Amino acid sequence: MTKKEKSSSNFDGAILKKSPNQTSSIFERPDGRKNTELRPVWAKVGVVPNADGSAIYASGDTIAIAAVYGPKQMHPQHSQNPEKGTLRCTYLMNSFSVNERIKPGPNRRSMEISKITEWALEPVLMLKDFPSQVIDVHINIIQADAGTRCAGINAASMALAHAGVPMKSLVTSVSAGKLDKTLVIDLNKEEEDFEKGEGPTDIPLSFTADGKLTHIQLDGKISPAQLKEAVEMAKESCKEILKVQIEALKNSVGDEK
Ligand code: UDP
Repeated sequence: MTKKEKSSSNFDGAILKKSPNQTSSIFERPDGRKNTELRPVWAKVGVVPNADGSAIYASGDTIAIAAVYGPKQMHPQHSQNPEKGTLRCTYLMNSFSVNERIKPGPNRRSMEISKITEWALEPVLMLKDFPSQVIDVHINIIQADAGTRCAGINAASMALAHAGVPMKSLVTSVSAGKLDKTLVIDLNKEEEDFEKGEGPTDIPLSFTADGKLTHIQLDGKISPAQLKEAVEMAKESCKEILKVQIEALKNSVGDEK
């Protein structure tokens, strides 16, 4: 099956079947993952030699590259904040990252995701130590299969650490979701497009290493009780992702930037 055929296949999803003990239902995911199972994750730092820090982070077919430049003097001067430094994130989804080519350049969606990324990362940065300076983070999505903002945040967090920017913690991000009534982790595009029953709910979240939430968004409908459960599921998954981030950073020790 080609990639195109794979991504356009219709996930009719609500294949609810009884578990072996016949007491609860299991939601069959299109790629056969368990509800709490992440897509295969890999990461590497030091992938953009000219940047001060860089990282690539992949979750299944979603791949993000982040490059950090700075801290450096902010230009133009009137944009400087003499009280603290500025984190400036630029998220870009490349035209070729999805099957249906997208128009190049910034748009409303990329501007929103750039802002969200700044808000997710700012709580761990000591920006007060860098008055009038800027830290530029450029995030490029080179392949997209949903969860690109989370992949971008994960790559950016690693790239900042790789650049030696002082941080209280790494930030780790994942998307929790509800397909009809069932909670799942790390939705792919096929799942995001699921339309049966209550349809899809997408909840991207980001956490510090000690489990403090730095970002949450919600697209869809969910009860307060299930939202609480989704947050806990995402927190657990982020512990797995954090290990991959740390391992990648450790592996770079001794490498030339
Ligand atoms: N997408 C697309 N074209 C676009 C925007 C998004 O094909 O112009 C796809 C892409 O696979 C993306 C997914 O839709 O990952 C979900 O996009 P969303 O805006 O929900 O953000 P994400 O889940 O990537 O953070």
